[in-house]
Amino acid sequence: MLLTSTRDTNVAISPLDAVLSGISAEGGLFVPTDFPQISIEEVAEFANSSYERICSAILGRFFDLDTDEIAKKACSSFTDSEVTPLKKVGDLYVLELFHGPTLAFKDLALQVLPQLMSNALKENSKVLILTATSGDTGKAALCGFANVRCRGKIKIAVFYPDGGVSDFQKLQMVSQQGENVEVIAVKGNFDDAQTGEKNLFADTDFGKTVRDAGFSLSSANSINIGRLVPQIAYYFFAYSRLIKDGAITAGDAVDFTVPTGNFGNILAAYYAKRMGLPIEKLICASNANNVLTDFLTTGVYCSSRDFHLTMSPSMDILISSNLERLIFELYGQNSEKVVELMHDLKTKKRFEVGETIREKLTELFCAGFLDDTETKAVIAEVFTKTGYVLDPHSAVAYGVGELNKSDRVNVVISTASPYKFAADVLCALGKMPTGNVFADCEMLSEISKTPVPKAVSELKNATVLHDTVCEISEMKAALLPFVR
Ligand SMILES: *Cc1c(COP(=O)(O)O)cnc(C)c1O
Repeated sequence: MLLTSTRDTNVAISPLDAVLSGISAEGGLFVPTDFPQISIEEVAEFANSSYERICSAILGRFFDLDTDEIAKKACSSFTDSEVTPLKKVGDLYVLELFHGPTLAFKDLALQVLPQLMSNALKENSKVLILTATSGDTGKAALCGFANVRCRGKIKIAVFYPDGGVSDFQKLQMVSQQGENVEVIAVKGNFDDAQTGEKNLFADTDFGKTVRDAGFSLSSANSINIGRLVPQIAYYFFAYSRLIKDGAITAGDAVDFTVPTGNFGNILAAYYAKRMGLPIEKLICASNANNVLTDFLTTGVYCSSRDFHLTMSPSMDILISSNLERLIFELYGQNSEKVVELMHDLKTKKRFEVGETIREKLTELFCAGFLDDTETKAVIAEVFTKTGYVLDPHSAVAYGVGELNKSDRVNVVISTASPYKFAADVLCALGKMPTGNVFADCEMLSEISKTPVPKAVSELKNATVLHDTVCEISEMKAALLPFVR
């Protein structure tokens, strides 16, 4: 299989090389031209397979590697025997993606991506990974790259928005050990950090410094195709469990509701659909940063608007990078059209799609958003009705999922553990947080009758190892000592 670029369809690159490059030279994102197909018979058989087997099957459609071993290693770091258990909560199903080492769904991809990268690295080559994070990617990437085979050949730098992540998320990142690791706070929001990262990729001076130091550049963000492919697996897994539980029979259409920021997770669902999974509607859930709700309902994408810091910080994003991949598909893989629209976005902070594309969007997607007050109400309501505690991101999805419920089965994607946002969750449940992350987690454990995850207690003795803070314009300067 070969991939191409959203901004130049003359590009043809192997999936492993694409993982290593991160982003295409002209700024486009790597995408498949044909989607490998999974037959409904195979989907039906998945009902008897483990997550590991399904993950290997999906990876194997894209990568010519020993995917059994990769999937096995990735799954071994998850604490639930199902890896991503599917639960019935009220009228909806909830797919829990937070049983990995960092308690957020990013682990599902970032326990795989480093393994793909270490396979892609040729002898004598070294790679520098740049990562912008809205809170969860940073730690998941640091964690994923900490235990790959050739970690001596990999350096990783993470940029997070100063003041824009939860206390827990920050502590997870700044306590990361290892000499091949750098963590930098940027005085801006996630979009600033991600744009800064993309600018570093395009900066020829910086590129030369990196090459002179013996490294090539790559990214652990979901602009990297190696992040998206592993995420396709859990949509097939969720479907397989619905069959197993008798909620559907193979072939029945279902809906998924996805809490969305950079559009990576929901794009993986779209890719699953293109590969043959019977998905009817993809329901895109946003917080007060509702740029995607507007786009999917009006066809106008406008990033020039107020930015809100919310209680679901991993979705505080106004420039959703992976939307570019969807646009590429909806325009029939027309890279010229993508170049034009992305140019509009960069220069006018806005682009608009035509009527035919708008129709396609409404056929594929529903969209909605919840502000923080509504999100808290959902957390409280679901707890009162069912005893189940949602984290704020998953609560946004649950609420939007309820609003868009059809007579089909609806699976809400739960992206983070409530323990990661214990203080906000306690507030939503009418309790007073203590001001201490760990005491809050104990309190939450009593209320939710679930054990405090190991990843929480491990942080108790953590020391702060990274305290660099830089201006948006200084990201390059802040990174140079680490590169050299
Ligand atoms: C990253 C993240 C999201 C958003 O996912 P995208 O792939 O960026 O759309 C939602 N919830 C949580 C908890 C996350 O960490």
